Amino acid sequence: MADAIERFMEEIEPHLIKQRRKRHQYPEIGFAEYVTTYELSEQLAGKGFELFYGTDFLTSDERMGVPDVQFLKQQEQRALDYGIPLDFLERMKGGHTGLAAVLDTGKPGPNFAYRFDIDALPIEEDDTSGHVPAKQDFRSDISGMMHACGHDGHAAVGLGLAEYLAKEKEHLRGKYTILFQPAEEGGRGAKAVVDKGWLDDADYFLSGHVGIHDLPSGTVAAATSKFLASSKINAKFKGKSAHSGLEPNEGRNALLAAASATMHLHGISRHKDGATRVNVGTLHAGSGRNIIADRALMEIETRGETNELDEYMQENALRILQASAAMFDVELEIEHMGKAISADADLEFAAIVERACAASKLNIVPYLPIGASEDVTYMIERVRERGGKATFMIFASPLPAGHHHPRFDYEEQALTAGLETLIRTTDHLLKEDETRE
Ligand SMILES: [Zn+2]
Repeated sequence: MADAIERFMEEIEPHLIKQRRKRHQYPEIGFAEYVTTYELSEQLAGKGFELFYGTDFLTSDERMGVPDVQFLKQQEQRALDYGIPLDFLERMKGGHTGLAAVLDTGKPGPNFAYRFDIDALPIEEDDTSGHVPAKQDFRSDISGMMHACGHDGHAAVGLGLAEYLAKEKEHLRGKYTILFQPAEEGGRGAKAVVDKGWLDDADYFLSGHVGIHDLPSGTVAAATSKFLASSKINAKFKGKSAHSGLEPNEGRNALLAAASATMHLHGISRHKDGATRVNVGTLHAGSGRNIIADRALMEIETRGETNELDEYMQENALRILQASAAMFDVELEIEHMGKAISADADLEFAAIVERACAASKLNIVPYLPIGASEDVTYMIERVRERGGKATFMIFASPLPAGHHHPRFDYEEQALTAGLETLIRTTDHLLKEDETRE
């Protein structure tokens, strides 16, 4: 016999898929999620939630890697052209995107917090018929932008959760905070949200990611381990241009400094204590064939299994960048663009989620490694240092292509499974809390 949650899931599924596709069709990258934020607020309005956005939601100065003013202005104009109200945009201007929806039942009970990230990636989405969003007509409307990590689905699951909480409002106790976080990609948004205090008194923090592991959908990992700490750095070399035929000796070559740094960065020695990574993702240099390049810009990231290992990679990277600048007599400017720390989820969620979902058709596995970086770790750390319990689940799905690939996609049943797990876990924790009192 179907229980109440199962019935809710049947009702919500078409809505969940519709919302996911709507978001997929209109991807916005980190700190430019203006339309996304507005549309989420519209969906949440009138359901009993108090909504917070703009600088009421995140601390401006704690954001990392905010795009330049020019770009944000363009994006704001795009959002206005799309039709979002000016007064709403005013509150978000300058990259203050994302929102919190808070439902306070006024009855004593636990404090739940949930996080869903909402940003897309600067990737041109595949348009061949083998790609489901292209075939089924919900491919990205914005050229060069794509939801290639599944955050479209995360936003939809967040809305689904809000629907459930609104529907069950009369039976709930405690407080429910749903965080729709901007700019997860590059580890840029979470810290600014945490700084606002949303997680300071959370008893339970639930979050998760769709995909990651190519397993049948309906498989959900109750917790995650092995978040890699990561640092994102931009390095700018400044030299001096000169005519390469007439007076090459007058130039100071920024391109050579950057090229040399690239080779040496990839040669940083591995560490005995665990996994490390380094990647020079982009390198742009020079202005013309017969000109000594006076400028080079590199986008670099390092990762490590622990904060210490990432620190080791970063220290070595900075040393190599400085040495390369010195070698070619050019100036170096370093900009820190984003950061994720390593953290562990509470592994006891394995047992909690398993009990919570025992009566369902979900296939709960205790935990899966993530092997990637996620700035949710800032949230997990804050909750745990304050005595709360935190987890990051994985809503697995068969994956036709990896994350951040132009053909990335997942089965929408993975979203249903994720939402059901979050609801059942919440319901279970609430009942456990009741019997304790
Ligand atoms: Zn992601």
